Amino acid sequence: MKNLLRIYRIMFKYWGSLTVGFIFMIGFAAFSGASITVIVPIMDNIFKVQDKKVELTTYSEFKGELAGEIKSYYSGIDEDTSLLKIDTHKPVLEILNRVMNRTDSYLLLKIISSLTVILFILKNAFFYGNKVMFTNLRGKTVKDIRNLMFENYTRQTIAFFNQNRAGDSLVRMVNDVEQVSNGFFIPVFSIFKQTGLVLVYLFMAILINWKLLLISIIVLPIFTICINYLGKKIKKYARRVQGQFSDMFSSIEEALNSMKIVKAFSKEEKEINKIKRINTKHYRFWRKAEIYAAINFPLSEINATTTGVIMILIGGKMVLDPNIGFTFGQFFLFASAVFSLLHPIKDIAKSYSNIQKARVSLERISWVLDLEPEIIEKQNPVEINEFNASIELKNVSFAYEDKKVLNDISLEIKKGEKIALVGGSGSGKTTLVNLLPRLYDIKEGDILIDGVPIRDLKISSLRKLFGIVTQESILFSDSVYNNILYGSHRDVTLEEVKKAAEIAHAAEFIEDLPDGYDTVLHSRGSNFSGGQKQRLCIARAIIGDPPILIFDEATSALDTESEKKVQMAIEEATQNRTVVMIAHRLSTILSSDRIVVMDKGEIISVGSHKELLATCSRYQHLYNLQFSQEHAPEEKK
Ligand code: ADP
Repeated sequence: MKNLLRIYRIMFKYWGSLTVGFIFMIGFAAFSGASITVIVPIMDNIFKVQDKKVELTTYSEFKGELAGEIKSYYSGIDEDTSLLKIDTHKPVLEILNRVMNRTDSYLLLKIISSLTVILFILKNAFFYGNKVMFTNLRGKTVKDIRNLMFENYTRQTIAFFNQNRAGDSLVRMVNDVEQVSNGFFIPVFSIFKQTGLVLVYLFMAILINWKLLLISIIVLPIFTICINYLGKKIKKYARRVQGQFSDMFSSIEEALNSMKIVKAFSKEEKEINKIKRINTKHYRFWRKAEIYAAINFPLSEINATTTGVIMILIGGKMVLDPNIGFTFGQFFLFASAVFSLLHPIKDIAKSYSNIQKARVSLERISWVLDLEPEIIEKQNPVEINEFNASIELKNVSFAYEDKKVLNDISLEIKKGEKIALVGGSGSGKTTLVNLLPRLYDIKEGDILIDGVPIRDLKISSLRKLFGIVTQESILFSDSVYNNILYGSHRDVTLEEVKKAAEIAHAAEFIEDLPDGYDTVLHSRGSNFSGGQKQRLCIARAIIGDPPILIFDEATSALDTESEKKVQMAIEEATQNRTVVMIAHRLSTILSSDRIVVMDKGEIISVGSHKELLATCSRYQHLYNLQFSQEHAPEEKK
């Protein structure tokens, strides 16, 4: 219910389209009803030629007579008579009938034919207007839902994206929203419209003969129970279908992104079988949902036919009995009203099953909209625009869920200092640097920047202080220029982009590209080498001129040649900046002011290269390990 209300709330924002759409809908329903009433005079006044006394042979005579009689009727009614009562107006029909009986049949046929055309034009104009308004409403609501979902996704922490597969998010944003658009909004609007029609036709049928109506629709409750049962089944399988869809998207996405590894290990068959398995499951659930939905149509037909047959049998008998006074024209109108009623009922049943399917998607969309961001900005946060003194970590501990990764870390990084973090894999270096710009929140302790706890700072202003280069070069399928520009929070000139590229030693290869800065990167930058991509990442990190730079194993994925170039880029980029660098090759951090040695989530030693070499056995071990690796071939020579 909450999910429905939320969607309606979004929809009600567009109350203009909604109101106008409703007005059109009422017009459509009214003219649909009116357009079938023309049957009565055709049956009863035109083709029934017995006891007809023709007095009116021209349109003006007909019009004059009708207007005159109606006028004299209304001027003759009591002042106390309420004009709001239907009974007050009922005699108008008798007047109409009387006047039509005195009118030439062919003239009447022409009048009624013209009237029919006008009524159908009006009915369809309202239908079209309604469709346009509700299409606007649906489009705008769906657009808002997608925007809200994406906004909420971007508010989530990295931890969320670690846990939730991208495929699932994609399916929710694309397919589930589409399901809601087609399977929820269209049916809901259709139910509105069909209910309008049902009411009009019901009203007509009740006016003509309510008893006959009650007998005719005797099978309707059974039909309703069946439809309800079907709805539940459909919902059950729709939920499974969407679940499989998420699995399928995630697996496809993963396989396509890892095609190099899939091929290198000849695992095409394995991947194909995995997708086949998911696809088969998806097919089974989808089939079940569709098969249950397909029962709807025959069921509706049986309901319609039974209702129709009962009505014809009983109604027909009534017409045949002259004592009852049920004319053929009235019966025909009644039958038309009831048959016209059955179509919207069928439509409502179909819409109901579609809505059941779409409600599953609605739940899945609501799940996204209800996600609470884990990293929350304080109310009235402190805005920080510069970094003046130091970053302080005080007794910081951190755990991924219940896995403790950092334990009681205390460290002060002064402005302008170059700090290197070293330690074995899994010792918590990356986690530590991720805590600084609040990509994750600390569990215990405090991190202060210039004396202010980072949780009191405006998150965007905190993050603007950092430029980050990670091991993976994550770039967008956009031009080189735009990729570098991405790191800036203000408009920058081409000159500034070029300057950043020069510092990052990227200008030298960018200028050799056929389109220079306009060269577009392929997906995941596959048309650039690892070293080139990393230099673009460095240019992106420094274009916003952040006072603090973080390098998380920025060179470890590169070959020695590229590493040298990137190292030069890093050296230039880090001048006059505070730097926290994680490096797997110790040779790249020898010039750091201080080296922090980490092991199993703790800082075990801090000092310069020389100091650590003399005092820290863990550092000595790391150093010896690399020294022997790096120099062994040379020494052999
Ligand atoms: P390092 O950078 O020193 O290699 P990390 O900070 O990446 O170490 O990881 C420290 C520990 O935290 C490791 O044991 C790793 O398995 C674990 N870890 C890292 N990221 C996550 C995560 N998103 N969820 C759970 N555990 C994680």
